[in-house]
Amino acid sequence: MKQILTLLIGFFVLFSCKNDNLSISKEEISSKKEEKAVQNFGIVIHGGAGTILKKNMSDSLETAYKEKLKEAITTGHTILKNGGTSIEAITATINIMEDSPLFNSGKGAVFTHEETNELDASIMDGATLNAGAVAGVKHIKNPINLALEVMNNSPHVLLAGTGAEQFAREQGFEMMDPSYFYTEKRFQSLQKVKAKEKQNKSVSFDDPFIKNSKFGTVGCVALDQHGNLAAGTSTGGMTNKRWNRIGDSPIIGAGTYANNATCAGSSTGWGEYFIRAMVAHDISAMMEYKGISLQEAAQEVIQNKVPALGGDGGIVAIDKDGNIAMEFNTAGMYRAHMNAEGELIIKIYK
Ligand code: ASP
Repeated sequence: MKQILTLLIGFFVLFSCKNDNLSISKEEISSKKEEKAVQNFGIVIHGGAGTILKKNMSDSLETAYKEKLKEAITTGHTILKNGGTSIEAITATINIMEDSPLFNSGKGAVFTHEETNELDASIMDGATLNAGAVAGVKHIKNPINLALEVMNNSPHVLLAGTGAEQFAREQGFEMMDPSYFYTEKRFQSLQKVKAKEKQNKSVSFDDPFIKNSKFGTVGCVALDQHGNLAAGTSTGGMTNKRWNRIGDSPIIGAGTYANNATCAGSSTGWGEYFIRAMVAHDISAMMEYKGISLQEAAQEVIQNKVPALGGDGGIVAIDKDGNIAMEFNTAGMYRAHMNAEGELIIKIYK
């Protein structure tokens, strides 16, 4: 009896050791797979495009922009490096820029004709082609978070105005007092545009001063270690906008687009033209149907198609292999890129 028992225990010990060995080798395989995937992650951001010229920029302001861009992109990069998703990375990155008065989004949003702030944002997940967007919200500190909430917790893609804010309240979002969005610089820009309007009777968005008083929409695109792309954009729109004008930023396909088969893009510029040219989607479509590279597609849309209509601006984009484009047809675009190796590029001018 004793002998049989010893034999059984022996078998049991042998079997569990074998099993242990098996599970270790499985872990080894999966960590090798991860090592391979790590090569490709990356993140790109913009903080708006326009007539951004070195001669108009003080050293201290330039440093402030560069520092904020660095803080934002390294936050997203750390998330990606630790295995987080591209959606997590872009929301955290955009939140930092939304909370800074430097950019025309969240805290630093431009003023409408009625001296209010109306914020637009959108987000898209390239893995599922799911998307969420909000337009014309007035009390939301981080509109990109509400866009994400629309994507994840509503049956809709785009919510606007009071309805979007009712949804936000129901989802437990904090409602900001509109005074939170007041910044002297943006308010004075509106006053200057209005003064110009009085002199000229009618001033269109074509007026260089008006076009240039809107800089600073923010956007972010990322490729994560799981091979998923995502894009997000957040803005206050254009100074002196009225009649609940909505730009391209909350329009999926124009301001934001992501598709794991091609690329993720976030636009900035004169929104009316970016809607008409369906900029972010057109770049993805050209890659898919023409088989051209991200850089070729971005160049064609930003340097030829948008200017042919009369519009200007730029885009940041990343493809499924981690190649990037930071294309613009204006004098400058606040922009930054960080690759899997942690190499960082921050640029403002051409
Ligand atoms: N595209 C934004 C809009 O038209 C503005 C910008 O990007 O500067 O609302």
